Amino acid sequence: MAKYETLGAMMCYQDRLKVACTCSHRSDFSLGEALALFGHDATPYDIRRRMRCSRCHEVGKVTVTI
Ligand SMILES: [Zn+2]
Repeated sequence: MAKYETLGAMMCYQDRLKVACTCSHRSDFSLGEALALFGHDATPYDIRRRMRCSRCHEVGKVTVTI
């Protein structure tokens, strides 16, 4: 079973964490913003569970990509 990598391990400085909600709202974060918000040890799975969409206010409906 594959273990999820953490943000700190996966992201390079030029990478952006992209979050897309099922309502089509999208946002993205720089590495520094993502680490400040979610922490170095957060995984994309953690972020997906915790993220609340700023448009539809649903939690856990986003897709997280880097
Ligand atoms: Zn939404």
